[in-house]
Amino acid sequence: MAVYNKYSEYLRWRYGQKIYKLPINLPVTCPNRDGNIGVDGCAFCGEAGAGFESQPASMPVAEQIMQNKLRIIPKYKATKFIAYFQNFSNTYLPAEQLEKYVIEACQSDIVGIAIATRPDCINDQQLQILNRIHSEYGVDIAIELGLQTVNYHTLTAINRGHTLAEFIDAVLRIKKYSMEICAHLILNLPGDEHLDVIENAKILSALQINQVKLHALYIMENTVMAKWYQSGAIQLISQNEYIDRVIAFLSYLHPEIVVQRLIGRAPKEGTLFVNWQTSWWRIQEEIEQRMKELDLVQGCKCDYLNGSAVRKFIK
Ligand code: SF4
Repeated sequence: MAVYNKYSEYLRWRYGQKIYKLPINLPVTCPNRDGNIGVDGCAFCGEAGAGFESQPASMPVAEQIMQNKLRIIPKYKATKFIAYFQNFSNTYLPAEQLEKYVIEACQSDIVGIAIATRPDCINDQQLQILNRIHSEYGVDIAIELGLQTVNYHTLTAINRGHTLAEFIDAVLRIKKYSMEICAHLILNLPGDEHLDVIENAKILSALQINQVKLHALYIMENTVMAKWYQSGAIQLISQNEYIDRVIAFLSYLHPEIVVQRLIGRAPKEGTLFVNWQTSWWRIQEEIEQRMKELDLVQGCKCDYLNGSAVRKFIK
């Protein structure tokens, strides 16, 4: 039995077959880099943003989809896909441009569109357009919100440029439509403790988020975080502690929330620290193994919702 609610299983249940994500790289930037909110970006952000495996942003969306399919179809015999707008803040652009890009991705074998963005980069106008595309083209739409942590002190320390409030606002707005929400979290940010990780799980569960994607912090050269790391201003937790945190997170996470991944991947080049020099799948296996040994499953400690203190009066 799976110890947590795996994304691959969810996709198979939802679409009846294995689904593959095709990364799309838009010519967008981020308000935390272009001067709108800030110029330095988040302390950990490398210049490539998140999409180090993507096609060039100058390539049209349809062409990027085709190039990625050429790579994936022969290898996996894939037939259905999710177009994943991955890099930087993909809704940080005029609504009509967002509409054009998303419609370009609505092809017959694309079952879903996933759009990564910051919580302060999504508004009602864009959501109405996306909802119309969902109805007209019959594609599922998921908004992936970079939260990183619910600890707003840590968000300020890493120069995130938004706090927890913007995330809650975005979630409540998206929830008015038939779209899924995925939250991205980093469970080992300097300044965050074990208790913050549990609070991450509790807040995502209380907000009824649909999916979550976990990362361990990786440190890219020439970032603010790299300076802190090299000067000894920050210390990173051990691999063992990361595993403990993921297990605590999953234990408190509502059992219906789908888990996209337990640890991220990073480019090797230009990276000072990534995943304790261990492959991501080894760490994932260890998390799963340890949960089985401890007889823990996702949601086993999710007993705090819906007025838990008055439960004793229910007959
Ligand atoms: S929001 Fe994303 S793209 Fe923008 S600075 Fe932070 S990590 Fe980089």
